[in-house]
Amino acid sequence: STITRHFSQTSLAMAPISKETDFLVIGGGSGGLASARAASSRYGAKAMVIEGKRLGGTCVNVGCVPKKVTFNAAAIAETIHQSKSYGFSVQETAPFDWTTFKQKRDAYIHRLNGIYERNLTNDKVEYVHGWAKVLSRNQVEVTLDDGTKTVVNAKKILVAVGGNPTAPPQIPGFELGTNSDGFFDIDKLPKKVALVGAGYIAVEFAGMFNALGVETHLFIRHDTFLRAFDPMIQEGVTKEYERLGVKLHKRSLVNKVDKEEDTGRLTVHYKEGDDGEGAVSGVDHLIWAVGRTPATKDLGLESAGVKLTEKGYVAVDGYQNTNVDNIFALGDVTGQVELTPVAIAAGRRLAARLFGPEQFRTAKLDYSNIPSVVFAHPEVGSIGLTEPQAVEEYGREKLKIYKTNFTAMYYAMMDPEQKGPTAYKLICYGPEEKVVGLHIMGLGSGEMLQGFGVAVKMGATKADFDSCVAIHPTSAEELVTLK
Ligand code: FAD
Ligand code: NDP
Repeated sequence: STITRHFSQTSLAMAPISKETDFLVIGGGSGGLASARAASSRYGAKAMVIEGKRLGGTCVNVGCVPKKVTFNAAAIAETIHQSKSYGFSVQETAPFDWTTFKQKRDAYIHRLNGIYERNLTNDKVEYVHGWAKVLSRNQVEVTLDDGTKTVVNAKKILVAVGGNPTAPPQIPGFELGTNSDGFFDIDKLPKKVALVGAGYIAVEFAGMFNALGVETHLFIRHDTFLRAFDPMIQEGVTKEYERLGVKLHKRSLVNKVDKEEDTGRLTVHYKEGDDGEGAVSGVDHLIWAVGRTPATKDLGLESAGVKLTEKGYVAVDGYQNTNVDNIFALGDVTGQVELTPVAIAAGRRLAARLFGPEQFRTAKLDYSNIPSVVFAHPEVGSIGLTEPQAVEEYGREKLKIYKTNFTAMYYAMMDPEQKGPTAYKLICYGPEEKVVGLHIMGLGSGEMLQGFGVAVKMGATKADFDSCVAIHPTSAEELVTLK
């Protein structure tokens, strides 16, 4: 009998779902799509992707992409304010039109969903909209949109289900807040927001809200945020956020959230420092950004015997193998490095290893020296070891640290209060001064890091950096002239 499969965005195709496949991929996000497409288009495997929500996963729908577009809006707001210093007389006659911006951003994402679907068609990957559950090492049950269930036999199964924002259910009223998914549903310019968390998401969102003129409260548990980064970055960005007017509640713990009956706004109650306490009222949106939880619930992994780590991630080895033959996992659900290009790279290598020619039998992703950027204010870039990590690994006496702080030329025309910080650090090891850590903070760091990342990945030394003639006048040139 014919089964209603999914109503495609581009056509109303209703093809029956295949009952057999070589490669069944659960999750149509960064890692799953990359792996399925490579398996099919490069190596001729019969591949199928099961996606329960929207194609593209977290990154395209509620992550990197809409985030970066919003970051660009925030950067334009900053430029408008700064333009006066360069002689422009820009009159802001109305506040930022968040509503129109959001509609355009949604339309862009919608277009991308369509492109992702067409890419699957072009690469001959079968796309099934529905929810998958692992039954055994070779069987997956798919619940289609109309509620019917089908069992698919698969030679290999890839679990690439990503994760979801973590909620703190122990806090009374926590459900009045939203999370990073909900951030992308906000359709009016808020007046006041509160964010809880100290990682990438809290810091990126707080910076964007603040630059767009929203009163922004950020609750962090310690004295600095981005604590996984080099101290130069933690301290530098935290200080800059305070200077830019983000209302930073250090060493605070949110302990209750209420809704104001008359306005529908929220009051966020918190403890601060050793014995202080307080409340912020009139909050339009409270956003929990306290980490993410792998999407392993109801996936059937336990019944198939797939081991999870203590934190609920799927346990994998360096080749993305789980403990069960035929079942593989990658991307955020494995809790390795939770970045889109990491999931993509792991996915392509796995496809090559499983379905490619002999030369790829040992293909795997090298998880060392992965560059990463936080789209903060200012942008932050980092690759390799932080200074404390390098000291622990090599001992301080084996390291040479080069640092610089300066004001980028962009700010030369501006008043002191408009000038943002720039700080760079190179961590070099051994007599040859191999660069084992590179940390940058300042305008343009996001675009700068990729090229320096190549150098570090190639094993560049300080002398290699210095042998490259500077590009003047840029900020990046400081990295090849450090003393
Ligand atoms: P996902 O992209 O999450 O895809 C998993 C998919 O599986 C989802 O679409 C989900 O619906 C589906 N799924 C789950 N369970 C099932 C099931 N049972 N059946 C069928 N389908 C299922 N990374 C960067 O590199 N740069 C950034 O700037 C960046 N910004 C980010 C900003 C935010 C706000 C967030 C939340 C993340 C950001 N990330 C960024 C991280 C990046 O989005 C993730 O690392 C990446 O999406 C992980 O890819 P994945 O394939 O592992 O999972
Ligand atoms: P992170 O793991 O980066 O940060 C969450 C932080 O919140 C913790 O490190 C912790 O910091 C703090 N925290 C945890 N629990 C609480 C609590 N109960 N109250 C207050 N603070 C708490 O998670 P994110 O959700 O920000 O991001 C998830 C991942 O997505 C990132 O790790 C990154 O890999 C990826 N991402 C990448 C981006 C990019 O590439 N630009 C952008 C956004 C996300 P502390 O211990 O200091 O309190």
